[in-house]
Amino acid sequence: MTSKLSSDEQKFIGAHVSAAGGVDQAPMRAREIGANAFALFTKNQRQWAAKPLEEKTISAFKANCKMLGFGADQILPHDSYLINLGAPEEEKLEKSRAAFIDEMERCNQLGLKLLNFHPGSHLKKISENECLAKIAESINLAHQAVPDVIAVIENTSGQGSNLGWRFEHLAEIIEQVEDKSRVAVCLDTCHTFTAGYDLRTKEACEHTFSEFDRIVGMHYLRAMHINDSKAEFASRVDRHHSLGKGEIGWDCFEYIASDPRFDGIPLILETIDPSLWISEIQQLRKFHKDYKDNMGA
Ligand SMILES: [Zn+2]
Ligand SMILES: [Zn+2]
Repeated sequence: MTSKLSSDEQKFIGAHVSAAGGVDQAPMRAREIGANAFALFTKNQRQWAAKPLEEKTISAFKANCKMLGFGADQILPHDSYLINLGAPEEEKLEKSRAAFIDEMERCNQLGLKLLNFHPGSHLKKISENECLAKIAESINLAHQAVPDVIAVIENTSGQGSNLGWRFEHLAEIIEQVEDKSRVAVCLDTCHTFTAGYDLRTKEACEHTFSEFDRIVGMHYLRAMHINDSKAEFASRVDRHHSLGKGEIGWDCFEYIASDPRFDGIPLILETIDPSLWISEIQQLRKFHKDYKDNMGA
């Protein structure tokens, strides 16, 4: 949408905002908190069925995004929590795949190109490898059903039987996806940390992201969720916290706000206190500005 980014627009920083009253309301809520990126649900995330998006909602969403300067690279829709693309039982798998295709179709209608989802769970009924294969096949089927939209796999904390907490799981899914141009990864800092990849210092971040690059490839990183963690390192428990208040601490967020490898992708807060989003976004922007000033850029 914008041709050349000014220096403080290299970072797309925002939060997962409410779409209450219609998806077309989300861009305004993002603007109110000073965001230049946002995430949203395009339907109720706790229900299977959703009525189709109305034409007037679609055009209002597009008009609002255009007016406020949100391009498709700055918006990260998230799918329903009910969907399990690696479900062991055929009936649940079919239902999940149909719902995922519907989610992807909604993104396509809204002119969006990313769809963020949690990979899936084996529920202790099938092996990890069988589950990963089902997830990859689900992505392939969605690609065949809907054009253009990129399936953005989110890494998990590895709570319960959720897969996608090891970088190797993400790499294996991608390996089995036929159209590699339409698969990507969203790293959630809370999930990464509680899965056992340290982020508490700059050095720890260097190591964790070089592991990600070695095993998956940085070029697959198309989005991030920026969350601190209430749960301890390697606990495999998913509990978000406000930035700087949890077990991870500010160094990690300064690292991400500074490092140009995280430019141009949505960096989305899912922190627990929305009244702090404005100041969290401002702090991340300040880290970025300080870094640029120090670089003399
Ligand atoms: Zn997340
Ligand atoms: Zn989480």
